[in-house]
Amino acid sequence: MPELPEVESIANRLRMGSDLHPSLVGARILSVQVYWQRSVAKPLSESFIEELKGQTIRRIGRRGKFLVFDLDGLTLLFHLRMSGDLWVESMAQAVAPHSRVCFELASNYRLTFHDPRKFGRVWLLEDADEVLGELGPEPFDPQLTAEVFFQRLSRVRRQLKPLLLDQRFIAGLGNIYTDEALHCAGLHPLTRSDQIRPDQAERLLGCIRAVLEEGIRRNGASIDWVYRGGDFQNYFRVYKRSGLPCPNCGMPIQRITVGQRGTHFCPACQPAP
Ligand SMILES: [Zn+2]
Repeated sequence: MPELPEVESIANRLRMGSDLHPSLVGARILSVQVYWQRSVAKPLSESFIEELKGQTIRRIGRRGKFLVFDLDGLTLLFHLRMSGDLWVESMAQAVAPHSRVCFELASNYRLTFHDPRKFGRVWLLEDADEVLGELGPEPFDPQLTAEVFFQRLSRVRRQLKPLLLDQRFIAGLGNIYTDEALHCAGLHPLTRSDQIRPDQAERLLGCIRAVLEEGIRRNGASIDWVYRGGDFQNYFRVYKRSGLPCPNCGMPIQRITVGQRGTHFCPACQPAP
């Protein structure tokens, strides 16, 4: 599933353009085709199609794992979930299988929401907070200081792994970057959030930022056929490496299941609480 660095990389590509297509900032939407009704979470697809006609993409950003397109007074949101991706194609190309929503642009390009597994969603909203309002802070928000982070951790009494995956606690982390950050910080995934010291909280916040920064620098991780172009999968220290040696100490990485999620850690570097 795309996490913060993958979504950031997609937003960057759409914003900056690539060898294959121009930037989408400033592009006007001529028409919209919805091929899978349930991909459109809000409003009903008739209104979605009608309201988007003639809108211009003013800004492309990211909040947590959401792609955020600011239009003229409206916001278009995408959540890619398991297998969603955004492609920019020439209008001359045939619409590919698994295309769920297509946006025909005035520049003779088409923005395609491609999503084989159909869990991804798109919203068109007057007030983006309707969906984004419940999200916790961005990991890179300068107001999220080590002290604020420590207080947030101590207020809740939850195991670190499921807590960091909770988008209301901090936005953008998924399974990969949570496992990598906990290994970097030397904290066991089952450690309770109210039992870590201020210096450990500070180290954890620094590690979250470091692994996300590395992920962004490497254009995210391509761990399956869904998200392509990333390189971070070649630099995992624990994720999907069970049985292989820890890069710090050589102990074999272990895998446990926490809240139904496969969780990878080093039993020596991340001692059990
Ligand atoms: Zn180790």
